[in-house]
Amino acid sequence: MTIQNFIVNLFELQGYRVRGVEVKGREILVKVELWRKTGSCPYCGKRTRLIHQYGKERKVWHRLIGEFRVYLVGRKRRWRCKQCRKVFTEEWPLVRKWSRSSSEAEVEVLRLIRDNSFHRVEEHYYTDPLRRWTPQRDRVYTD
Ligand SMILES: [Zn+2]
Repeated sequence: MTIQNFIVNLFELQGYRVRGVEVKGREILVKVELWRKTGSCPYCGKRTRLIHQYGKERKVWHRLIGEFRVYLVGRKRRWRCKQCRKVFTEEWPLVRKWSRSSSEAEVEVLRLIRDNSFHRVEEHYYTDPLRRWTPQRDRVYTD
């Protein structure tokens, strides 16, 4: 599993493609774009593949995990409808409202990411598609 997939699962970013993760102190910037290849025209309902332009880079609050503030960073696409010629901006799917508190394991993963230990994250955790992700508790860090 790649770190990108891992992050999609950890932050519940289904529908997003993660292009990278940058950690600045206690801020985690997850660079994202949508997987979706078409936009659906809000005026006439037609689908379009025509990209008019990319918007400005935005930084959107996502959630808090322990001491980490997680943001989504990316550009929204502006689509042009082939039928009615109108231009519209894509919607980013809202990620499910987060109600439960963060687990120690999640915070620990973010600390590893901050320390650029992506391979260690991948070594020590695995994803069960049915149960989100699960720490391998029988393994202990040695450093
Ligand atoms: Zn249209």
